[in-house]
Amino acid sequence: MLHGLSRLLPAIADQNLDEAAVYRRESLYERPRYEGARGLIPAAGPLLCPLCGREAARFLPFGLGGRRNARCPDCGSLERHRFLWSFLAERTDVLRRSLRILHTAPEPCLEPLLRARHGRRYVTLDRFNPAADVQADLTDLPFPDGHFDLVLSSHVLEHVPDDRAALREIARVLKPSGRAVLLFPYDPKGPTREDPAMDTPAKRLAAFGHPYHYRIYGTDTPQRMAEAGLDATLVASTAMLSAHRRRRRRINRNHLFLARPRAAAGRASGEGS
Ligand SMILES: [Zn+2]
Repeated sequence: MLHGLSRLLPAIADQNLDEAAVYRRESLYERPRYEGARGLIPAAGPLLCPLCGREAARFLPFGLGGRRNARCPDCGSLERHRFLWSFLAERTDVLRRSLRILHTAPEPCLEPLLRARHGRRYVTLDRFNPAADVQADLTDLPFPDGHFDLVLSSHVLEHVPDDRAALREIARVLKPSGRAVLLFPYDPKGPTREDPAMDTPAKRLAAFGHPYHYRIYGTDTPQRMAEAGLDATLVASTAMLSAHRRRRRRINRNHLFLARPRAAAGRASGEGS
């Protein structure tokens, strides 16, 4: 959830605000308040942010319930960003090679790190954020077939009503050797939960915990991706990182999917396994 969205929730539910009306507010993209908190955080401690290298006795709370030790006090990373970065650094060559990358709804903690490594081959895309390189919808990407080595999309697909169309577009713009790293709310305990009757922000907030989430993904997710032309592998933080490293980086339980265009899947290496 974007910083600043939580204080808009009453208005979103009362006035039935649509997503564009909310996400076009530039105030959502302002530098969040965590920068002002630096002086309050002890200089060192057992926690480590793998993005910015910050060590701290504690991180800042975040989210509707004030999740403890969630946000890095320096770069603003959350648990899912620290998991994604750990995966990219330790299980892929993304931080070692120059790649053509599409990053959807780029997070302020990740964007500068990736742009510094990949320069003009790194492209950000967002439907609403005017600071993104390209403003476009994930279901209709303005790029040729086979263009990107990597598509990074974290907590975007659950906002897309027709996510199958978005997955097909991701498969289309990937090179045969390319891959996508996809994160979204995922519950390994059952199938995907979605319901067309949840057709207002208030109903979706009640059903899915967010006014603009259309589903919570579940165990059928690889099948959903296969139908869109992607062969996907689930990577769980609990399998990838020891309990000690999960505690130190405050990653907890997180999941991502590593997906490849189907035609290329037969050539897949052991990456991400
Ligand atoms: Zn950090």
